Amino acid sequence: MSSHDHDPDVIVVGARCAGASLAMLLARRGRQAIVLDRARFPSDTISTHFLWPRSTAALARWGLLKALAATGCPPIETVAFHAGPVALRGRPEAVDGTAAMYCPRRTVLDKLLVDAAREAGAEVREATLVREVVREGDRVVGVKAVDESGETIELRAPLVVGADGLNSSIAGMVGAAMSRSHPSLTCGFYAYWSGLPVDGVEFYLRQGRDILVFPTHDGLTCLWVGRANGDWSAYRADIEATYLASLDPALRARVQCARRESTFKGTHRLPNFYRDCAGPGWALVGDAAYHRDPLTGMGIGDAFLGAELLADAVQRGLNDDLDGALAAYQETLRDRTAAVFEYTLMSAALKDPEPQAALYRAIAAQPDTIQRLMNVLGGSASFRSLFNVRTMGALLRQSC
Ligand SMILES: Cc1cc2nc3c(=O)[nH]c(=O)nc-3n(C[C@H](O)[C@H](O)[C@H](O)COP(=O)(O)OP(=O)(O)OC[C@H]3O[C@@H](n4cnc5c(N)ncnc54)[C@H](O)[C@@H]3O)c2cc1C
Repeated sequence: MSSHDHDPDVIVVGARCAGASLAMLLARRGRQAIVLDRARFPSDTISTHFLWPRSTAALARWGLLKALAATGCPPIETVAFHAGPVALRGRPEAVDGTAAMYCPRRTVLDKLLVDAAREAGAEVREATLVREVVREGDRVVGVKAVDESGETIELRAPLVVGADGLNSSIAGMVGAAMSRSHPSLTCGFYAYWSGLPVDGVEFYLRQGRDILVFPTHDGLTCLWVGRANGDWSAYRADIEATYLASLDPALRARVQCARRESTFKGTHRLPNFYRDCAGPGWALVGDAAYHRDPLTGMGIGDAFLGAELLADAVQRGLNDDLDGALAAYQETLRDRTAAVFEYTLMSAALKDPEPQAALYRAIAAQPDTIQRLMNVLGGSASFRSLFNVRTMGALLRQSC
């Protein structure tokens, strides 16, 4: 077993949207961060990858958006949102001066973040699997991991962060309790297609189905087809037939002229929950802390938000009261994501058509409300500005 010469300030487990971003932000503030991931980058993961302005704005704040654009990812100019009986089209306004939307492959985006973390001075160790947390009393003080040579290493730090995704092993090891837990509502498969032109990004919210169509690198289009979670066994038994049968006829006709360039990737493990995300010597960020159905395309942006909030808390806490700063981080993260969580639960139920259809019909009847919906989704307006009880009630009355 080997150990590290100097203890870092923070050990981060997981080096994708949450972990690499956090390590980069901490290193830029002069903190010593070590980030460990069992993967080697570039590395793919099961995820589509649409970035609303809420997500690209973080990349712009961090000085990484131009580098992303330079990878040849096509910019997305419009959002077509088909909900129940209505089709809405528009473009979200800028968040912090950034209106860009992209759908970068995770092989590209995650590598960009890992490189940025390294460039900022964080130590990134790939092919390193964390197996245990080290404790002193009830405090987490480090981790034991197996590195790429198969050697067990022990690292110690005042803070261990689990940025290790939905099935966070750090959450399991520290016994982080689950709260606000709701079972998976959808399931689905996606694939990459050539010869499937798409004008912007297309979202379809239908009874029992959700469909997302995004342009990505290399002239390919990513097409996700979701179904109610209970359909998983039948879907998996005949993926291609279910996938194609679930499309609206006009989209199906377009897909029938296209060519599938990848296998289908999919999942039915899409639970909705908050975990306790701070404790003595540990914290969670990204999907490890908070997970919701991916149909709103906000997981990456929320991982970026969590990284920024946690970096602020760690910076404050390491100078003063770490546990207090982490408790405040948990509260702020929940407050900033609560409305997205509720909207996602409502949408992922894939119910048709009332009262959601009435809501969307009412939105479609007013151009300024369409813009407001776009801004809410994009991140420049709060969910509460459109979906609070009074507004929703008024919208429903107007549509009757
Ligand atoms: C089907 C699907 C579609 C999605 N579509 C979108 C979308 O269009 N837009 C969007 O914004 N979001 C989308 N999301 C959500 C998005 O993928 C996640 O929110 C995001 O990946 C969370 O990032 P993360 O860094 O928290 O975790 P992850 O991306 O899961 O990264 C966790 C990392 O931790 C590492 N790790 C785990 N355990 C260990 C260990 N013990 N030791 C070392 N390393 C470890 C893993 O190797 C991995 O690299 C989608 C998700 C799914 C499932």
